Amino acid sequence: MTAGQPGPRRGPAWYGALCRVCPLWQQIFVALLLGALTGALLGERASGLAPVGDLFINAIKMLIVPLVFSTLVVGITGMGDPQAMGRIGLKTVAIYLLTTAFAIALGLAAATLLQPGVGVTLSLGEGSGPDVGDAPKLAEILVGLVPSNPLAALADGNILQIIVFAIALAIALSLSGKAAEPVIRVFEGLAEAMITLTGFVMALAPIGVFALIAVVAGQYGLAMLWPLAKVIAVMGLACLLQVFVVYSGLMALVMRLNPLRYLRGSLDALLVAFSSASSSGTLPMSLACAEKQLGVPRSIAAFVLPVGATINMDGTAIYQGVIAVFVAQLVGVDLSWADYGLIVLTGTLASIGTAGVPGAGLIMLSIVLAQVGLPLAAVGVIAGIDRILDMARTGVNVAGDLMVTCWVAKSERALDRDVFDAARTAE
Ligand code: ASP
Repeated sequence: MTAGQPGPRRGPAWYGALCRVCPLWQQIFVALLLGALTGALLGERASGLAPVGDLFINAIKMLIVPLVFSTLVVGITGMGDPQAMGRIGLKTVAIYLLTTAFAIALGLAAATLLQPGVGVTLSLGEGSGPDVGDAPKLAEILVGLVPSNPLAALADGNILQIIVFAIALAIALSLSGKAAEPVIRVFEGLAEAMITLTGFVMALAPIGVFALIAVVAGQYGLAMLWPLAKVIAVMGLACLLQVFVVYSGLMALVMRLNPLRYLRGSLDALLVAFSSASSSGTLPMSLACAEKQLGVPRSIAAFVLPVGATINMDGTAIYQGVIAVFVAQLVGVDLSWADYGLIVLTGTLASIGTAGVPGAGLIMLSIVLAQVGLPLAAVGVIAGIDRILDMARTGVNVAGDLMVTCWVAKSERALDRDVFDAARTAE
């Protein structure tokens, strides 16, 4: 089935009717506001809702491995020209690196101009921050891309290894003629079923988002956020600029697509990313949005998005830039141009190495701070407000993945304009 075609029946009639009156993104949005209100009213007691949020997250995580594996195999076997994969792969990684380096520069510029750390007095305390160990070496990363045991890769949910195995298997299946056809059909059936299942889990998103936000809002009182309000505001501003100016600008000027349609079509995934603070966890939603609402063919979305959820973290890169400058201002260190260059380099690498799970960026922050000789104890101060920053950066991470996915599809002349221009709401 290509993007935009009506699929098999995906749910009861009443749910379809509900979504026509109040589209899913509006349901999630209302849930988000109600969750914040509930959390503010209940305070710490809102943590009683945590199991509901965890249930939702587990339900999404349950989808990731079979969904990514089957849709990627089906996408590539249906591609006609498996060699296109090499070209798409290079393009994807190049654009991801470029947008990440830009994002970190934006974070540095925002914090340098707006000076969130100037005039703030905070005790950094003793200690050296969390022990992050040594960053993995490039050769180790490359060797680790090929799974010695593909079943172990599937069981561990190692997305990059799963992508490599799925591509290899799909190419072999395409070249194996009649004997392999039943296997391809099994994957087609599995992919279709996983997409149906994603629809079911998405229908639960308003409940999950409500619980997730209520717990966070209950935990973080204003008293806790206030001393660091300036850095939160600068981070928020830089994230908004990245999405509304950089991504939307690229959409309009380079891709010649309506940025409002891109934002509208991405909204379901962005709201889930924001409330779950996990871009890997949002992957099923991102895949559904890309295919059903942005008109990206499955063969491209199934490759570009899982790679993005693993290596492309523009929001995390902005965060590294903002916090590094903030900490420098806090301790009164003047950063040189060389320091800025080093932060862009290590921040880009650190964001690639950041897992798409809550709080991962905080751990990687230590690497960036250590590179420019800033005190690692600052990580402890940031940890207190990290969830709020994490929600913002994860939203940007997912928005970036979806923007690049549209870009790659457009450059391959594969974007379904009818679906993109309609930017429907998933039912
Ligand atoms: N939570 C982020 C994500 O999943 C990663 C981070 O902590 O920066 O995209």
